[in-house]
Amino acid sequence: MAEREVINLTAIKRDPTFGDRLIPAGQQLSTCIQCGTCTASCPSATAMDITPRKMWRMVQLGMVDEVLHSKSMWLCSICYQCQARCPRGIPLTETIAKLKQLAIQQQVKEWRTSTTFYLAFSSVMRRYGRMREMEFMAQYFLSNNPLDALGYAGMGWTMLRRGKLRPELPKLTGPGRLDKLFDRVAELEGKR
Ligand code: SF4
Ligand code: SF4
Repeated sequence: MAEREVINLTAIKRDPTFGDRLIPAGQQLSTCIQCGTCTASCPSATAMDITPRKMWRMVQLGMVDEVLHSKSMWLCSICYQCQARCPRGIPLTETIAKLKQLAIQQQVKEWRTSTTFYLAFSSVMRRYGRMREMEFMAQYFLSNNPLDALGYAGMGWTMLRRGKLRPELPKLTGPGRLDKLFDRVAELEGKR
């Protein structure tokens, strides 16, 4: 979306509770003065389709679909620059994490591969406490289109030959040892 594009607010579906669903940042977001410091500080802004400053304005306006279908949140590198510099002290980086959670919950089609990547990664880490590439890739491709795996067969074979992939099971540090950590994160996310 071009930075100077005019948006016809009467022609789009809006949800005035959108900001409130990002609590506690929802109320704070209403204090945004559109200074643009977040965009100026963001190392990923040039690759985003909606810049951070614009995204927060769209959240204020309740433009749920436009924000959740944007690729901007997936390009956020969680560097906290915008949050550290926002003159209103809005927890912007944490709000981007909340936006990702919403996109995952609503199974936004465009970002299905991104969300299944996150979920497969978390699932393998929870189980083993470290990455097990073969299982991670199996989960990822099975959650999307298994035939896509064929396109990576050559690279996978090369990685196997060079010892970059480990087909054997990693040593388990003890089943369930990370459960408490993951459960605590889920509890904290539920409270946001
Ligand atoms: S830095 Fe803060 S106040 Fe300025 S545009 Fe971004 S969110 Fe709004
Ligand atoms: S936390 Fe994300 S949105 Fe904020 S400056 Fe860093 S990359 Fe940009």
